[in-house]
Amino acid sequence: MKKIVLASKNSDKVKEIRLALQSLPVEILSLADFDEMPDAVEDGLTFEDNALIKARFFGARTKLACLADDSGLEVDALGGLPGVYSARFSGYHADDTTNNQKLVDELKKIGVTESKADYRCVLAFVDTDGSEIVTSGKIDGTIKLAPKGNGGFGYDPYFYITESRTMAQLSPAEKNSISHRGAALAKMILELKGRLP
Ligand code: IMP
Repeated sequence: MKKIVLASKNSDKVKEIRLALQSLPVEILSLADFDEMPDAVEDGLTFEDNALIKARFFGARTKLACLADDSGLEVDALGGLPGVYSARFSGYHADDTTNNQKLVDELKKIGVTESKADYRCVLAFVDTDGSEIVTSGKIDGTIKLAPKGNGGFGYDPYFYITESRTMAQLSPAEKNSISHRGAALAKMILELKGRLP
């Protein structure tokens, strides 16, 4: 069975991607299955750049086909930030709590209580023969300063998909069925099915 390694150290992302890839006849590995994997330098200016950087980097190190996700939140009132800086919005040692606090602080600073926003996800697959596939997905929503729900990860408690429901109130399967990552994965699955025996 073909092995694909997921190029992410974010265990929440890995869970969502594993769930979506269940239907494929492939063995999914994660970076946790390898000893002391260094970090890729994500210095691209776009989600696509960073997804390709990670897929190429970890594909070369594991010598396996590699699937990488680069994703983030873009808030209209913040001129599209945090964007590619979503994971480290609050600094070098950022985590979901400090990033969410920074999001709230930045919006309060400019007197905004809600803003249109979107999540974007780009997936890059680099095969062992060097061929590459890139897919993407997006979901529109609203950031409100009233967190709700315990599901998902990252900015999900602040990301409203309807007037009253946040992304963090969805089950993992519900989230994948509408999310930016779910949309990018659906396209990637079609592409991968075309090249699997
Ligand atoms: P990356 O691992 O460099 O792609 O950074 C992704 C970051 O974007 C995460 O750490 C989260 O802060 C944010 N993000 C991406 N996708 C989601 C999502 O589905 N929900 C909430 N936050 C997300």
